[in-house]
Amino acid sequence: MSSYALDNLLPYADPGVQVDGAFGLRVAAVQNTDLHLTRVNSDSRLIIRGIPGTRWQHELSARWQELDEGGNPPLWREPVLSSFEREDQVKHPRVRNGERELAWLGSGLLRRIALFHKSSSAYSTRSWITGGEWIFELDTRRDVPLDHDTLLARLMDPVWGLSLRISDSHCTCHNPPLPDRYMRQCTYDLVHTEGKPGGLQIRFRHGRAIYGRNVREDLERVGADSAWLDRVLPQRLADDSSEAFE
Ligand SMILES: [Zn+2]
Repeated sequence: MSSYALDNLLPYADPGVQVDGAFGLRVAAVQNTDLHLTRVNSDSRLIIRGIPGTRWQHELSARWQELDEGGNPPLWREPVLSSFEREDQVKHPRVRNGERELAWLGSGLLRRIALFHKSSSAYSTRSWITGGEWIFELDTRRDVPLDHDTLLARLMDPVWGLSLRISDSHCTCHNPPLPDRYMRQCTYDLVHTEGKPGGLQIRFRHGRAIYGRNVREDLERVGADSAWLDRVLPQRLADDSSEAFE
């Protein structure tokens, strides 16, 4: 996971084409299993804490070497915006403007990241961006009650939440039950209350645990909080073999 994070986050140049990774992101420090990230011309810090045994320095060196040998200059040690990044800004204004337009949402969500495990019944949260929209897919196991109202209420809380309102929704909670092999989904579209560009779609899925056979065991092994696990992935009874993990 640490190597996956670095592959996706750290900026590097594809000379003459574009800059990949998070534009302007820099590595500020490594302290044990903490990776401190910052941005050019900023004092802000984002700390990514790895599980015990994470070797950030080793991963950083490996990533540096891999890019360097492939002819892709790594940019995360540059003290200022590199010439590659400046050139990219000029060549791809639409891409960079699109990113900036979603920044209020990314920043707001990052500052409330704990909501996704404290206020949700999902054991898995994934997200991606497409066409100016941030899509989240939250999976709740069938034998755990699906709760989407708590998370939505906190995301839109008038004091602590983001300036969001629901623009569209489709809730299937009161529909007749589906056969076991199907997943049920409730979908909520959220937009900025004052019309800023960019929106959020949250797909609350309810069904079989589809990500791996031994999700709970995998999460226990990397030190996941046991109270959280008991809530979102409770142990099954020994004779409960009616629903296979698939
Ligand atoms: Zn629903």
